[in-house]
Amino acid sequence: MNGPLSFTLQARDGGARAGTLHTAHGDVPTPVFMPVGTAGTVKAMTADAVRSTGARMVLGNTYHLMLRPGAERVGRLGGLHKLMDWHGPILTDSGGFQVMSLSGLRKMDADGVTFQSHIDGSKHRLTPERSIEIQHHLDADVTMCFDECTPFPATEEQAASSMRLSMRWAARSREAFRPRDGYGLFGIQQGSTFESLRAESARALTEIGFEGYAIGGLAVGEGQQEMFRTLDFSVPMLPQEKPRYLMGVGTPADIIGAVARGVDMFDCVIPTRSGRTGRAYTSRGVMNMRNARHADDASAIDPECDCLACVRHSRAYIQHLIRAEEMLGPMLLTWHNIRYFQTLTARLRAAILENRFDAEAAAIAAKWETTAPPEPPSKEETTS
Ligand SMILES: [Zn+2]
Repeated sequence: MNGPLSFTLQARDGGARAGTLHTAHGDVPTPVFMPVGTAGTVKAMTADAVRSTGARMVLGNTYHLMLRPGAERVGRLGGLHKLMDWHGPILTDSGGFQVMSLSGLRKMDADGVTFQSHIDGSKHRLTPERSIEIQHHLDADVTMCFDECTPFPATEEQAASSMRLSMRWAARSREAFRPRDGYGLFGIQQGSTFESLRAESARALTEIGFEGYAIGGLAVGEGQQEMFRTLDFSVPMLPQEKPRYLMGVGTPADIIGAVARGVDMFDCVIPTRSGRTGRAYTSRGVMNMRNARHADDASAIDPECDCLACVRHSRAYIQHLIRAEEMLGPMLLTWHNIRYFQTLTARLRAAILENRFDAEAAAIAAKWETTAPPEPPSKEETTS
């Protein structure tokens, strides 16, 4: 393809949108859910297994990959696509969020952040220029600007100075980014939950100009109601013709609510992490597969699901594998959970194209049983 990564908006239904992201490694229908491949692998899944779920795009983490195996090494080995046998598009984060949440001693200044690796205590530094260079070595189709994810809660003054720092770093990220056909750089809107700051951030980013726009600084403990309230005014500030990405979100209900508000792209560790802790996302809601009630249940995790775990195995078997700490348990459950999130976004997309999004969203939510335990904060434990 000629020119940078691009986006075609195909349909709108209320605030919800269906589109296609065009990248160097293929097209991606939106709304899209990207499984998280933290350290060069979607945990417990082969690349073929990830593909079989319908996933078209995955995420890699700059922080993890720069520490191990190292960005330059990944580049020498042919890039992340080749290394992990994932030939579809890859989005990488900037490393900023995980430096703040995972690393040991760290010191931020106007130029960047110096930190200690959580693996061996070694000292490293990330600046906008270095983050962009690392993402170039990784061969990310979508590179994210280096920014500071404003902690929540923040006063308006704290949120303003944090956002303005991120906007200066966004300009430096744009300057450092090396354009290639089918590749793009996304800006990240900050400003916490303050409307005037979100507007100032959106203006600063659109003035610089990016191939896509992320809404940052949400899903950090503010709760779903406050997140939706912030999206209500934040999303319309972003350019209509460009893709919008809500970072680190979320539960099925979060995703449906954000799609309704005009978000196109999502990533979250929920399906993979839950797969390793015995939780299944299903058309009836969340199930704890460790629960004793599954011990004699020969039915599928989700009778409506067509994944390997559901077509070939019973709840009883999955429960046994998880209780016995067999590797196959988390593998099958992760497979199922990712398939569930892919089915969810595919249903939303089909409904948008047919102008029946609200009815579809209501039909999906109506089947959830209210017995599910509350979901832990979606951005915690991004390493696991
Ligand atoms: Zn399944």
